[in-house]
Amino acid sequence: MSEQENNASKAEVEQLTEKVEEVILDAEGKPLSKKALKKLEKEREKEQKKQERLAREAAERAAREANEVDYAVDNYGVAKLNMSQQKSSTKWTEVKDLGESLVGQTVHIQARLHTSRAVGAKMCFLVLRESTSTAQAVVSVDKDSISKQMVKFIASLPSESIVSIVATVTKPAEPIKSCTVGDAELQISKLFVTSEVKTMLPFSLEDASRSEADVEKDPSLNRVNLDTRLNNRVIDLRTTTNNAIFKIQAAVSQLFREFLEKQSFTEIHTPKIIGTASEGGSNVFKVTYFKQDAFLAQSPQLYKQACIAADFGRVYEIAPVFRAEDSNTHRHLTEYIGLDLECAFREHYHEVMYMIGDMFVYIFKNLEERWAHELEIVRKQYPSEKIKFDEKPLRLEYKDAVALLRKAGEEIGDFDDFSTPQEKLLGRLVKQEYDTDFYMLDKFPLAVRPFYTMPDPENPQYSNSYDFFLRGEEIMSGAQRVHDADFLRQRIESFGIDTESLKDYIKAFEYGCPPHAGGGVGLERVVMFYLGVGNIRRTSLFPRDPKRLEP
Ligand code: ATP
Ligand code: MG
Repeated sequence: MSEQENNASKAEVEQLTEKVEEVILDAEGKPLSKKALKKLEKEREKEQKKQERLAREAAERAAREANEVDYAVDNYGVAKLNMSQQKSSTKWTEVKDLGESLVGQTVHIQARLHTSRAVGAKMCFLVLRESTSTAQAVVSVDKDSISKQMVKFIASLPSESIVSIVATVTKPAEPIKSCTVGDAELQISKLFVTSEVKTMLPFSLEDASRSEADVEKDPSLNRVNLDTRLNNRVIDLRTTTNNAIFKIQAAVSQLFREFLEKQSFTEIHTPKIIGTASEGGSNVFKVTYFKQDAFLAQSPQLYKQACIAADFGRVYEIAPVFRAEDSNTHRHLTEYIGLDLECAFREHYHEVMYMIGDMFVYIFKNLEERWAHELEIVRKQYPSEKIKFDEKPLRLEYKDAVALLRKAGEEIGDFDDFSTPQEKLLGRLVKQEYDTDFYMLDKFPLAVRPFYTMPDPENPQYSNSYDFFLRGEEIMSGAQRVHDADFLRQRIESFGIDTESLKDYIKAFEYGCPPHAGGGVGLERVVMFYLGVGNIRRTSLFPRDPKRLEP
């Protein structure tokens, strides 16, 4: 006898033994009658048949489903690679334009799949994202156009896929709080993938969009640190917050341009590759220029002044500025965007200084009015108070600031430059005393300003120069410039700089030049302090700092 046969009969024996025990005892331990035993066996057979029937039905169903014709095949899938094969009269709608007024209409939308959540096998909720806008969409099985397979396909798409959908706009029962479009929902009838996500994302956009408060409240949520974000900047920039930050950055330069154009300024473009380090300092990048060395401009200072000498009257430039400073701080980059301006005046540099003050007020007011949507988005992730400022900005003198600091216990000499902590403290003191986040500090000590700064005729230890501050930190430096060639030479020599190295610059003034003043603003700084996002790298598209040259 084989071992198997042997085992089989053993099993039979076991079964028999079991039966015997059952026959003898019922639940109360009493022996069962023959009738009861028969009934029991019948029940058992019935149960077995039922199980067999269920299994057979399940198998049949699976087989049917496997062969089932998918009645929705034409309504979903991966689209052919777009090589511009097709032109149609389709009218595409942007996510930002969805709303109650479109209820009942059929729309075509191309957007990112932000998130998806399946509810059973028959329904799936999606959030679609386009730039700073998000909307909720839903797809659910019906009898003739949306199959289970279609819902399964959609539910399994990775986040960040780009999808083209056809949908009907409906009014949600309750306003959708989690999306920027709250008063409309999309009932999907077709969905095709325009661009697939082929590798795992380094972090989810949901995680990258969380506020610090959210993560603190729920430590199980992922925090995406700044370095990880910057290493994967393309993904990071996709968040609605970052889209909004860079719309605001663009808005600041647009408003800068808008205001100055209204004041008859001319936009200029000065060279960024220069033969001599423009301001003499050591903070210039040297580059190889064929057989000689060249430098990257650390400001357009000398050229914008040259334009004044060339009778342009009022000029501005929006362009990169390079600083070879090993400053690893929250507010220093090695390449930033300079908003520079220079302006001839008739009598007093205050004509220019106050105009620049008005320019900032114009920028701040228009941001709140015209970019309210973007500001609201940024403030969700980076909550901050709106900045306070006066219609006519506050002007303080340097010596008043020194007095304020001393009153608060700081030790500072009359002509010392402020340290960053002192600058911030001053910001808090000014806020307490004058209730403003924006002010102009005038009459800096001459010794802490560059050679081209005009001294104060009443007290030559001071100068006709100013810095502007936003939330307690510097956003602009400016001054009246020395426009007299002889005086300029004298000033350059007093700095120990060889006048020969600046001969072209000085020459511009030899032939006469109107009195003028101007300033240089850091674009990323304005955006950073305005939004209160705490680090300049957040307001620079692809930041460059002493430790970062990539991506
Ligand atoms: P800070 O004292 O903050 O280093 P700075 O006085 O050296 O600045 P300026 O030469 O006065 O800078 O430059 C004019 C403006 O350009 C500054 O007010 C600031 O807004 C911006 N800026 C200067 N340096 C940087 C930098 N490294 N990164 C970003 N912005 C800068
Ligand atoms: Mg400065």
